[in-house]
Amino acid sequence: MFPTDPRAGAVPLRTAALATTVLMLVTIAHRPIPSPLPSPVPDVATSASTEPARQPRSTSDVPTAALAAHTGAVPSGRSRAMIVLPPDPDGIRRAPVPILLYHHVTAGVPATSALRETTVSPAALELHLTALERGGWTVVALDAVVDALALGTPLPPKAVVLTFDDGWRDQFDIALPILERHGVTATFFLTTEPVEAGWIGSLNWDHVTALVERGMTIGAHTRTHRDLIGLSDAALADELTASADLIAARIGTRPRLLAYPYGNFDDRVRAAAAAAGYAAAVTANPDGYAAGAALLALPRIAVRGGCDTAAAFEGCVGAWLGEAEGWWEAVAPGRGSR
Ligand SMILES: [Zn+2]
Repeated sequence: MFPTDPRAGAVPLRTAALATTVLMLVTIAHRPIPSPLPSPVPDVATSASTEPARQPRSTSDVPTAALAAHTGAVPSGRSRAMIVLPPDPDGIRRAPVPILLYHHVTAGVPATSALRETTVSPAALELHLTALERGGWTVVALDAVVDALALGTPLPPKAVVLTFDDGWRDQFDIALPILERHGVTATFFLTTEPVEAGWIGSLNWDHVTALVERGMTIGAHTRTHRDLIGLSDAALADELTASADLIAARIGTRPRLLAYPYGNFDDRVRAAAAAAGYAAAVTANPDGYAAGAALLALPRIAVRGGCDTAAAFEGCVGAWLGEAEGWWEAVAPGRGSR
C-alpha cells in the first residue's frame, strides 16, 4: 500500500485555478548479496501518522488508461512542445510529474525474501520503460523538474522521472544498461557509508563516477540511512552534510538533491536539509503535486516488487500517471499525444 505522510505537506492537486492561468507554450521544436545496509525495508513513510494510510486509488477512476492510451514508439527526433508550468494565483508552479522510486533491479529473488518488496526484475524494468514510452511519457532528469518548478524552465508534456535509492550494485550492473538501451536517465540516491566502506552489494566510487560519466545524476541519501526524525542537531547535520561532502569530494560535484531515508521528514528535518544546501528533496509519499513551494517535499511513487507485469505496473502507478496525464491534457491539449 502507499502510506500517506501528512507531514509531507502534499498539496491537493486541483486544476480549477489553471483555467484562469496564463499558459505559456514555448515551441521548440544477480541476485543481490545481502549487505549490512540498515535498510531492509522500503523507503516508505513508516512513522506514526495522524490519519489512516490510504489505499492506492483504484485505476478504474483513471480518466484514460494511462499506459494503454497510446501505442507505438515516440518518433525519434521529432520536436515536441515544451511547456512552462503555469504559476497559480499565488505564483507557485506545480505539476504532477510522476517521480518513480526503485531500489533493487535483479532476477531470482524468492517471493518469500525480505528483498522481494524492494526488488523488480530486469524484465519488469524493461516492461515499465516500454510502457512509459508507448504511453507517450518522456523521462526527464529530476534536476529539470526542480528547475521547472523553481525557475520556470520548460518541461516536455507528460514528463516522468526515474530514481533509484540506496546505492545498490545491481543498479549499476543491471539497471544502468537497461536505462541506456531505452535512452533515459535517472537519479541515483546514495547512502555514502556503504559506498565508502566498500560493503558487499554496494556501489563503489568507480561505479558512481561511471554513472555520472554516463549521464546519470547522483543525489544524497544521507550517510548511514538513519531515520532523520528525532536525531540530535549534530547527528542530523552529520547525516545531511557528511554525505554531500563525501560525494563532492569523490565525484567533484556536490549533490543538490536529497532523498529522505524511509521518506521520513518533518519541518525540522526539512529546514536542516535546506541549511545543508539541498535544492530539493524527495519523499516516499506518492500523493500531491510537485510544487515550487515545496521543493524539499517532492512526492514519489514506489515501484514495488509486485509491479512486474503490465497489469501490475498499471495497478502500481497508473492512478498517478492518469492524474498527471489529465493535468497535462488540461494545460496543453493534445501535446502529450503523438
Ligand atoms: Zn533508502
